[in-house]
Amino acid sequence: MAKGKVLFREDRCKGCGLCILACSKKMIELSGRLNNQGYNVAHVQTSDGCTGCAMCAEMCPDVVIEVFKE
Ligand code: SF4
Ligand code: SF4
Repeated sequence: MAKGKVLFREDRCKGCGLCILACSKKMIELSGRLNNQGYNVAHVQTSDGCTGCAMCAEMCPDVVIEVFKE
């Protein structure tokens, strides 16, 4: 199965949670960490199980997420 790796530019995240809803693999969650704008930023605990489908990146209105296929 295809594998992916996701990177978050945390300083741009608004904590809206749209990427969480977009991921069918339930890889993404809010981290509890605040960025320099005071938003609770999204992250992935581990990329294990990520397919690289890039739905999260497509959904993010703030272009926070970059997906790499492995
Ligand atoms: S690339 Fe797909 S599987 Fe991986 S975190 Fe984003 S939505 Fe989830
Ligand atoms: S969709 Fe983008 S801005 Fe919203 S929580 Fe996810 S990464 Fe952050």
